[in-house]
Amino acid sequence: MSEEQRKVSESSPGSTAMFNGPGRIPKTESYVWHQTMDITPSDFPYLQQLMEESFEEWMKESAGLQMVSKADWAVISSTGEWLVGDPMLQEYFSAGDDSTLKRALEIRAAAAGSSEDRLGGKIVCASPVFSRTHGDLFAVLISVSSAEIGKEQAQFMTEAAALMLRACFYRRFECIFVEDLAKIHSQAEREARRRSVLFQVVKRMHAQINVDGVLTEMLVSVLDLYPNVNVKLFMSQDHQSSHPLVRPLLLHHWQEKVYVRTFMEGALTICENRDQPQGLIEIGVPVGGKQGVYGVLHLVVKREEMEDMDLDLLGMMADAAGTAFENAKLYEQSNLMIHELRMINELTQQLNKSLQLADIYQFANEELRKILAAEYCCILSYNEELGGLEVMSCNAAWLTKEMFEKDYGLGGLVYHSKEPLILADYTEERPAVSKLMDTTGSNSTIATPLTVNGEIQGVILLTHRKKHYFSYDNYRLLQALTSHIGLAVGNASLHAEVRRMANRDMLTELYARHYLDEAIHECQSRDFCGSLIVVDIDQFKQVNDTFGHQRGDKILKQVSGIVRTSIRQSDIAARWGGEELAVYLPGLGIEQALQVAERIRLRVADETEPRVTVSCGISEWNWMHDRISVESLFYRADMALYEAKNSGRNRIVVEKTDTSEE
Ligand code: GH3
Ligand code: MG
Ligand code: MG
Repeated sequence: MSEEQRKVSESSPGSTAMFNGPGRIPKTESYVWHQTMDITPSDFPYLQQLMEESFEEWMKESAGLQMVSKADWAVISSTGEWLVGDPMLQEYFSAGDDSTLKRALEIRAAAAGSSEDRLGGKIVCASPVFSRTHGDLFAVLISVSSAEIGKEQAQFMTEAAALMLRACFYRRFECIFVEDLAKIHSQAEREARRRSVLFQVVKRMHAQINVDGVLTEMLVSVLDLYPNVNVKLFMSQDHQSSHPLVRPLLLHHWQEKVYVRTFMEGALTICENRDQPQGLIEIGVPVGGKQGVYGVLHLVVKREEMEDMDLDLLGMMADAAGTAFENAKLYEQSNLMIHELRMINELTQQLNKSLQLADIYQFANEELRKILAAEYCCILSYNEELGGLEVMSCNAAWLTKEMFEKDYGLGGLVYHSKEPLILADYTEERPAVSKLMDTTGSNSTIATPLTVNGEIQGVILLTHRKKHYFSYDNYRLLQALTSHIGLAVGNASLHAEVRRMANRDMLTELYARHYLDEAIHECQSRDFCGSLIVVDIDQFKQVNDTFGHQRGDKILKQVSGIVRTSIRQSDIAARWGGEELAVYLPGLGIEQALQVAERIRLRVADETEPRVTVSCGISEWNWMHDRISVESLFYRADMALYEAKNSGRNRIVVEKTDTSEE
């Protein structure tokens, strides 16, 4: 619709049916709305094109009419401006001495009349054309015909022609509305189709519960709607899609690219494509949700194929995809979290089954390898006595029981930095030399500090020979799992400490009597022989009386220390009661036990301050004895001790052979 036509239609009152003046339309019940439309004086300056078309149509329709073909015709506006007509007449009106306006006004004054004109004696007639409802004069039809016709005839012909012209004019005028209506209708249809497509697409996208499904659905829908469009989807993450048109969005290159700009600005971007043939445009539509922009839908398309409405539709589709993507992502994440929680739960349950540290390290090693699909796992623990990182568990057999300097390797790095570590390619990035990595040929690793009761106790390392093997999620999961391993290690250590304390005598730090009883019992069921030495401090009551009980305690500690450092690792020294100590020597006969006792006796006499002496009684057992019991062993040693006391103290008495059967 042209500018003039639009003005005409907009300013036309839609419901006025009142009119006066010549050429009015009779009022009947069969009015239709478009017949009530009319032009008003404000439309008059814009009638040129409409009048040109109407005139042309009128000429065509009147081609067979003699009265029309015998004259030359022109139409001027109500203000006398030329609208349309025979070019010769235009020349005449414009080239005359008078201005067009003046001439037109004259003719207008002469309307409904005719005059002989200077045009070679021809008859010039004019007839007004009134608007159909208000009867406003909006044009004047002028005819120039030969004198033979006669003035009256010419005038009659011109008036009839004016009526016909007006009919043509109003038909064209109504056509404008009908065309508009048709246009609106077709647009509404297209809009409805778009809406229905959008609805279907949104429904399908929201039905997807995985990220890849949403992306694929969006691309398929866009290609369905616009098969001629060159489309790609650039994603900042999650670009490992099954759909070939999903690409990674690399921000550090191609800053000038439309999709990078769209992603950065988060707004629809349209750009003339410099790399493409003329007439193509590039469009970037951001795909985002509540939490940000995830990617960009990128299209290269012919300008005429994309209307504003299409851009709106693409925008809405991208928004829907962004939200569906976000939902699917949340769903995937919550699934992952549930999976992780389940694994953590299972691991903790298993870990809590045992309170033995060695079992826990072994079990944690196996489980971590399984859960994170790692090839090797190494758990290091800091050994305070030796000041190094000790391998507590490792499935690379050659590394088990190994002890590393506390600064050595990736383990040392993590232990000192207290920070977890992720390495994707050991050949490229080597923050420390690692025996684990080198000897297993590993390239990827994730490692995390093992914290027990808030303090770094060790390091857990997982490795794989493939490069870029572990994901960030693996790394996070390892940290979560490690904190539970730390708890289990803490519990087991605490348990071991409690057990150790329960078996120890607080004052002397030797084993308690019940522990010795149990140990001897166990040895008797396993070994062939063994000896027991009972050590008793001589005249200890007097020591206490002389130096006080506290000094007495110190002496008791000194003697205990001498006993402990005079025996083998496998021998067991215990406080049997009061100032009596006992040492069991597994696998040793009486002769060897005597030597040990003698060593103790001499050292006590030599090293104590104030000086004390000890008396010892020794008994033994071997597999040939009839009665083998802890009680009998003690009894016999005690009898020998009694003997030692009676025979002067500071001496050793071995059980009598003939009483050994007691
Ligand atoms: P002997 O064994 O030589 O026959 O004389 P004794 O004085 O050592 O013997 P007795 O059994 O009569 O006395 C044991 C004394 O050991 C009694 C007690 O005061 C002292 N005693 C026992 N346990 C402790 C202890 O834990 N600390 C101190 N300071 N003294 C203790
Ligand atoms: Mg004593
Ligand atoms: Mg005693």
